[in-house]
Amino acid sequence: MFDKFQSRLNLKGKVETQTAIRVGAGRSTAVVGSDLPVVRDAAGAPYIPGSSFKGVLRSYIESILRSFTKDINVVCNPTNNDEQCIKREKLKKLRDKRDDNKWNDDKYTAKLLSKTCWVCQLFGSLWYASKLQIRDLYVEEDQWFGQYQHRDGVAIDRDTETSVTGHLYDFEVVPAGTPFEFQAIVDNAKDWQLGMLYLGISAFEKGDLTIGGASSRGLGVIKLSLNAADYINRKKIMEYLTEDYTGEKANWDAWVQAFKDKVKTQLEEIDAQTDG
Ligand SMILES: [Zn+2]
Repeated sequence: MFDKFQSRLNLKGKVETQTAIRVGAGRSTAVVGSDLPVVRDAAGAPYIPGSSFKGVLRSYIESILRSFTKDINVVCNPTNNDEQCIKREKLKKLRDKRDDNKWNDDKYTAKLLSKTCWVCQLFGSLWYASKLQIRDLYVEEDQWFGQYQHRDGVAIDRDTETSVTGHLYDFEVVPAGTPFEFQAIVDNAKDWQLGMLYLGISAFEKGDLTIGGASSRGLGVIKLSLNAADYINRKKIMEYLTEDYTGEKANWDAWVQAFKDKVKTQLEEIDAQTDG
């Protein structure tokens, strides 16, 4: 990645469970069975996969964007080819054009990005690498003594989606007050993308988002506190790589403003199109 290094934002902090949470090992809470475990690391302690955290962050940001536009060039649905910002057929066409016209990487990337929605530009897609990496969140070592808890679930018949009377099962949860270490890196993001990311980060800081299963039962509330948000720009890359330089403080206000400006421009464009 350093061949085209523009910037890096390092985020570090702590995630603490506000309620019990249940990040299941693969299966949903509606599965008929007993003793559904949570995901564990090699030492048997619970952890939150970085991909789970990222998924919640992405969905939240998608929902904010959808609240003001249905334009799939702003926010698409990555799970459905027909609702993706670049559909498979379009991607193939672009690749053919690249080969026919001998576009270099920069030109091809610029073409791709002009069609890639805001969310895919930050979180990645099949054709574009994510700028955001979230490490798996491991429980703070000296705070874990195996204090798993169990909750009763009502077994659901998967065909009728009704409860099967008398069939209870246990599911495992991690109790409230459990601290996990949080670490994320954002490489080469534009200011407006960092501002967009901040909306999600601040929702986690307020404890507004849930992770894992059984959120309808009040489970899954977590709260993020950042201890460090350090930004390294291109000019400081050598200091970052060779010295103790850790970066300058994140300039969230400016980044959020850049995002607001981007939204404003987009809305004006939409207005202009409707008027025209
Ligand atoms: Zn997209």
